[in-house]
Amino acid sequence: MTIFSLKCYTCDRISGEGIVGEMSEDKKISIAVIKRLPRYYRYLGELLEKDILRISSRELSEKMSVTASQIRQDLNNFGGFGQQGYGYNVEYLYHEIGKILGLDKTYKIIIVGVGNIGQALANYTNFEKRGFVIVGMFDINPRLIGMTVRGIEVRDLDEMEQFVKKFEIDIAILTVPKTKVVNIAQDLVNWGVSGLWNFSSVDLKFSKDIVIENVHLSDSLMTLSYKLNEKKQIKNYKDEKRSTAMRNHYNK
Ligand code: NAD
Repeated sequence: MTIFSLKCYTCDRISGEGIVGEMSEDKKISIAVIKRLPRYYRYLGELLEKDILRISSRELSEKMSVTASQIRQDLNNFGGFGQQGYGYNVEYLYHEIGKILGLDKTYKIIIVGVGNIGQALANYTNFEKRGFVIVGMFDINPRLIGMTVRGIEVRDLDEMEQFVKKFEIDIAILTVPKTKVVNIAQDLVNWGVSGLWNFSSVDLKFSKDIVIENVHLSDSLMTLSYKLNEKKQIKNYKDEKRSTAMRNHYNK
């Protein structure tokens, strides 16, 4: 049974002001919605692993701590919604969101800078399950060149241009020092790479044809620290209020 009427939704345009996708000439998808889609995809994947094939919008909203209306609004951006009284067909929604995210395709990826982070990412097998296939790795350190990670050889940076052009690399993962990343990224873009997943602690910017995700793990850690301190401050405030009330009570 088809529950959704999802239409076309390739998010292929970047326009500076936080709008990254478009479904039609008049309907643009906000970056906030697009950033929530991987989370929907992940949760739906977990439901499928538990053989849950159907879920009400209320249950999905409780599991994800997102309101049911938010979920409905997000999915309506793509012309899709659950059926009244039935809820969501988990498998269908999972695959459709996968398509929206471009996970029905395969991407050829290289890693540039095979140190701590580069090696950790190379060792993570789940990327391949989603179609992100690491086909090459590059470094300048002679001690790393020739080494293999999961069967993929680390090559000398000098070989990168030929490799990128020959294999038409889609995405480069950048895990080099920040002083090196701008030049490397520029070369890669000149050689035809249009997706950069940049970990190098500096925000890269290119023309709108180049898609960049700048990853800062420390931003997430700082958010954690903010929330931790906020909780402590609220607790201190409540403790203070309680002891003032007690003092006032006994001083009466
Ligand atoms: P690392 O020193 O272990 O690895 C860097 C690798 O880059 C080394 O193997 C080095 O030989 C290689 N390299 C240096 N210059 C190069 C060049 N021109 N071409 C190719 N390879 C080159 O560092 P790491 O711990 O893996 O961190 C990598 C980068 O990520 C650093 O810039 C670091 O500051 C940054 N970082 C980012 C986050 C984040 O949240 N995004 C977190 C930690 C570290």
